[in-house]
Parts: sequence; C-alpha cells; structure tokens
Amino acid sequence: MNTKAMYKLSYGLFVLTAKVGDKINGCITNTAIQVASEPNQISFAVNKANYTHEMLMKSDVCNISVISEEAGFELFKRFGFQSGREVDKFAGFTDFVLAENGVPYITKGTNAYFSIVIKQRVDLGSHTLFIGELAAMEVLSSVPSATYSFYQANIKPKPAAEAKPSDVPEGMHKWRCKICGYEYVGVSLPEDFICPVCKHPAEDFEQVY
Ligand code: FE
Repeated sequence: MNTKAMYKLSYGLFVLTAKVGDKINGCITNTAIQVASEPNQISFAVNKANYTHEMLMKSDVCNISVISEEAGFELFKRFGFQSGREVDKFAGFTDFVLAENGVPYITKGTNAYFSIVIKQRVDLGSHTLFIGELAAMEVLSSVPSATYSFYQANIKPKPAAEAKPSDVPEGMHKWRCKICGYEYVGVSLPEDFICPVCKHPAEDFEQVY
C-alpha cells in the first residue's frame, strides 16, 4: 500500500473562522467541500487538536473564506503556523469583516466566503467532520481559487531561497513540514516528531538547511 496515493487527491484551501464569546479565531483547512444541494450543505473536517475544533464543539456558526491565488504566504503563517490557544491570530490584522453571524471572514487573498450553521458533527477519530447549511455566501473576487498544489508551487517559499537562514544557530539544521510549512530548528528532527500545527509525522518533513 503506497500512502503517497493520498497526495494525488486535490484540495482547495480555506480559512475557517469561529467565534465563542469574545474570542475570534481561525485556521487554515483544505477540507471544505459542497456535499449536497437541497438543502445546500458544506462539510469540512477539523483535527481535534486544533483550537478551532474546540470552539466549533461549543458554537454552531462559522465562516469559510476561500483562499485565492492572490493570497500571500503571510496569510498562511498567520492562520496556519500558530495556535489560537497561544496567540490572538487577529491581533494587528485588518483584512477581515464581521459577517452577519458575528464571525469574521477574510477579505484579502480570498475570493468568496460562506457563513455556515453546523447541523451535524461526525466523530472520525483524529478529526471531526462538520456538516452545515449555508446562512450566507458572497463572491469577493474573480481571482481563481488556490489549490493545495498551487500553494506548494507558487505561494510556499522555496528552500533554495533560504540557503543560509538567520534563525538557525551554528551546528543546527532546519526541517520544514511539507504539509503546512511549519519549521523545526534543532540538531536533529526526532523520529517521533509530530507537527504541532497539522499533526503530520516526521516523515512529512523535509530538511531545508
Ligand atoms: Fe505541518
């Protein structure tokens, strides 16, 4: 069984945003798809370790912003490479608007957003599959949606461009998660290392320095 077959599946990229009390947060996901038309429904799966998952077990509303080919790497760093448990991902960020449901959607580097009312939660082990109906949706731009392949080829910085990273001390090396871009700096990458962001294992890391 060649698990690399999984890489042949194509995905879009999205910012999933939620609000519980005064706390707003969001994460990058590649799992949103339309799953029915009558009524119109979207599903998306979220890793249980994510803070956004915790929020969506407490709240039935969320937004999904569709990332476009104009998105910069900054957007992925802000929403993908840090945890909402530790930082306020919206601090100093102005490229969003609050939708009618009170949840933000992203206005730059995106081409549409959906406001979703969660109707079902399916426990899938590592992830929960959320299925919801559409409360609102708008087109924000005519720029094509970014696929995961487009991100890998055009948005994610190339290792060659960072031959001598300034953040790697003498005698240490750098590995980057091929899935989400998270970077690990150390003498060696532990075999049992799990990406703190996307939860993929050490074998999904590549040494970039
Ligand atoms: Fe990762």
